[in-house]
Amino acid sequence: MAKSQTGRKLQTVRGTHDIMGDQARTFRFINQTFQDIARRFGHREISTPIFEFTEVFNRTLGETSDVVSKEMYTFEDRGGESLTLRPEYTAGISRAFISNGLQQSLPCKFFAFGPMFRYERPQKGRMRQFHQMDVEILGVPEPQADIEVLAIAATLLTELGLMDDVTLEINSLGDQESRNAYRDALVEYFTGHKDRLSEDSLARLEKNPMRILDSKDDGDRVLVADAPRISDYYNEPTRAFFDDVLAGLEALGIKYVINERLVRGLDYYSHTAFEFITAKLGAQGTVLAGGRYDGLIEKMGGPATAGIGWAAGMERLAELVSPELVPAEIRPIAIVPVGAACQMAALKLAQQLRSAGHGVDMSYRGNMGKRMKRANKANAVMAILIGEDELARGAVTVKNFDDGSQTEVALDQLMDHLSPER
Ligand code: ATP
Ligand code: MG
Repeated sequence: MAKSQTGRKLQTVRGTHDIMGDQARTFRFINQTFQDIARRFGHREISTPIFEFTEVFNRTLGETSDVVSKEMYTFEDRGGESLTLRPEYTAGISRAFISNGLQQSLPCKFFAFGPMFRYERPQKGRMRQFHQMDVEILGVPEPQADIEVLAIAATLLTELGLMDDVTLEINSLGDQESRNAYRDALVEYFTGHKDRLSEDSLARLEKNPMRILDSKDDGDRVLVADAPRISDYYNEPTRAFFDDVLAGLEALGIKYVINERLVRGLDYYSHTAFEFITAKLGAQGTVLAGGRYDGLIEKMGGPATAGIGWAAGMERLAELVSPELVPAEIRPIAIVPVGAACQMAALKLAQQLRSAGHGVDMSYRGNMGKRMKRANKANAVMAILIGEDELARGAVTVKNFDDGSQTEVALDQLMDHLSPER
């Protein structure tokens, strides 16, 4: 393996990957499908910086979340500012909402895509740099927004051919009053079993007991199984809100399962929380997850603004998408100059075709035989052979690779000749 000047092996940092070949093609397909659907739902693209001031994340995601307590890529820049590589999109988009004074133009419907960074233990479906697609609606406190973002998710998973592979799990975390009542019940219950709680969950018991429900510790999970159920603590508005969301899903034919243990990893959720889960990816089975975060923007110092959104993991979706669905690369037209004298004419023709929207492959060297081989390797649909004699007559030879036919075509008719095939 090649070594760098410092003698270190030249490879990617642990948990990061180069994306190319079929994987890049699959990513592009998923992303284009996502963007197309998001636009159909009237969402506008936003792209926020990859790094932000650390407080954008640590204040909003909550200090008991796994992301803040263990996973953030935080560093000091040369000016001594504490910066963090974004671990998710919602905090950055909410910051952008405040920075840009967007409360004047509610509702804001955003979609976004990009790399995220978390210091995790790398394994299948869990990287340190990964990619998320993200959807947010700001300024809509009604359950219609919850239904709409879930409809976007279901449309995406349907168009990626994955709807049969996933289950939508949904829960309501209630409004403030319901949450407070539930929180008290949880504190009482878990305090009674303090000696059996993991160290992490002991800390959560103090700061955010609902997060214990999300614990991945086996011992905690046993306790969680008998913990009080949130639905017993819903007040009337919470119940009505949740019923409206579920009625919307039913109207749209989106199947769901209520999971009362679903609380989501971040601290800022209220009302709806949901995950699309698959059994096909082992332990890393959540492909898309989100919820409502009505208190977040106010907590960040902005005007009280409702919010709901979700993020989907690109790498996990790409594992599931059937290769047959992913469009093949376009098959190019190969241009083959027959002899050095035709090189310039070939160059010009290639430019003309590319400007007209055709994919063109032209090799850089070699005789005609070598170039034809290369054209085959590039999976060209046809080769346009440019020879001196034909050129003198104002013509080229078009060889169709699929049926083997060969025809002479006048240069001034070439574009017409090509268009039906492309
Ligand atoms: P998990 O429980 O798997 O750690 P999470 O709750 O931390 O997930 P979110 O913050 O909700 O995940 O992120 C949304 C989606 O992003 C996840 O459902 C998953 O598909 C993807 N994702 C999260 N972390 C990673 C990672 N480290 N590598 C790859 N994909 C990830
Ligand atoms: Mg996580």
